[in-house]
Amino acid sequence: MPENSYVHGASDVSLIGATIGEVFDRTVARFPDREALVVRHQDVRMTWAELKDACERLARGLMALGVAKGDRIGIWSPNWAEWVIAQLATPRIGAILVNINPANRAAELEYALNQSGCSTLIIAPPHKACNYAEILAQVEAPGLRTVIYFGNQMVAGGYNWGEVLRLAETVSDADLRAREREQHFDDPINIQYTSGTTGFPKGATLSHHSIVNNAFFIGERMRLTEHDRLCIPVPFYHCFGMVLGNLACVTHGSTMVIPAASFDPGETLEAVAAERCTALHGVPTMFIAELGHPEFQRFDLSSLRTGIMAGAPCPVEVMRSVVTRMHMKEVTIAYGMTETSPVSFQTVADDPIEKRVASVGRVHPHVECKIIDPETGAILPRGHTGELLSRGYLLMLGYWADPAATRGAIDDARWMHTGDLAVMDEEGYVSIVGRSKDMIIRGGENIYPREVEEFLYGHPQIRDVAVIGVPDEKYGEAVMAWVILEPLARVTEAELSEWCRGRIAQFKVPKYWRFVEAFPMTISGKVQKYRLREEARTLGR
Ligand code: AMP
Repeated sequence: MPENSYVHGASDVSLIGATIGEVFDRTVARFPDREALVVRHQDVRMTWAELKDACERLARGLMALGVAKGDRIGIWSPNWAEWVIAQLATPRIGAILVNINPANRAAELEYALNQSGCSTLIIAPPHKACNYAEILAQVEAPGLRTVIYFGNQMVAGGYNWGEVLRLAETVSDADLRAREREQHFDDPINIQYTSGTTGFPKGATLSHHSIVNNAFFIGERMRLTEHDRLCIPVPFYHCFGMVLGNLACVTHGSTMVIPAASFDPGETLEAVAAERCTALHGVPTMFIAELGHPEFQRFDLSSLRTGIMAGAPCPVEVMRSVVTRMHMKEVTIAYGMTETSPVSFQTVADDPIEKRVASVGRVHPHVECKIIDPETGAILPRGHTGELLSRGYLLMLGYWADPAATRGAIDDARWMHTGDLAVMDEEGYVSIVGRSKDMIIRGGENIYPREVEEFLYGHPQIRDVAVIGVPDEKYGEAVMAWVILEPLARVTEAELSEWCRGRIAQFKVPKYWRFVEAFPMTISGKVQKYRLREEARTLGR
């Protein structure tokens, strides 16, 4: 009988049974004076002991503001030091951090705040063209009691960072220790909005246990130690930044180097060279932008050894260039999704080069995966393409306040249905073939067509709309909207684009528009998006 497409990551290394606070404290005890965090755009440098002090002060400040165990605290910010401090402070007091994409605008912010029931929100100072405080003023969030502005902002009705730290003086160390003892590693500590293929994004709820262990084994596969310095240009609001980046460093005592508030290829190369980074993360489009930087030759990248490329299909040629031109001989590819903390597959430096550039590697320790026929649910033999399922400690606790959606994603045998199509070879290496869901990935940002459609339905002249992803040289995929206008409507592509601007995140605004009389439909009344995609291809888009 041919072997089934089932693998289990047997391992001699035990899972960690500890909270994020406990794991962090162990690292602080081992390496108090080594550098923990470097944030170049803020001129911040902290040792592990200093970072612990900053986290404990924020934790006590939040307690002084009345934050209780289980309360949700939103964070809406690009990559600032305060994000890392909030990430490591909130689990100490049992608060659940709600990651909000800094590219979000009023509608998405309002949805996340209300769906998760945030009572506190931490927001960044204005960045580039975005004034977070101004956008917040347009939002109705009845449960939101406290807003904390970091930087030097002084906004009426809110606290700034310094005030919260001053309030910390009113809560004793003993009070904080007592609160810490109430935390358990299976408690929820993080909500991330994702995977809204069937409606608005859902809040994947992760525990101490799921992300601490995932981060630890990610770091193991990269062979991280306290001598490594990891450059993190990927966003913190996503697992790539906060788990593969920050927490992988916390579990191994490596230094987090933050090159800029949001991705910039030049700042990233500059940070690697100036800080002598040994590791660098990125989605494929980031590495492409770095390799294509006009002054690439100017940067000395010889300190690099490893890093992770993930988040979207990783082109073989890009992987090869990263190994040769960026010196990342031990670069690894990881595959995962937010609902699984996120990583389930990852290559290692010992894998043969062909596997390291053309597969997502083998299953992670303590994780099970299988590939099934999506129609019948039957497990497939090796070499056959089907839907990838994963199971184990890494699974989210569920979608926040959405048991129906949770049941739709995790079946009775506790398998997470990823919606990704994959194939497993005889040795257990997996390649991702495509997506059975229609999510668009534009430059590493996930876009859920349904969400953009829902938004466009709000335009008075649009009768119906179907959004698809089309290939794009720069971003991998671009958003295309197929629109049926109301009779007699007169609106141009440019007017529709203009209408979207400022109302939804810029990366979700369709690049292409096409006006049609009708969509190709199935008998059951569903738009046949694959036919739209085919037609878009023949149009050269
Ligand atoms: P997210 O929940 O934002 O992490 O997005 C997860 C999705 O990104 C997966 O379901 C995949 O479709 C895609 N993805 C992540 N990593 C890879 C990879 N290495 N290769 C191909 N697709 C990937």
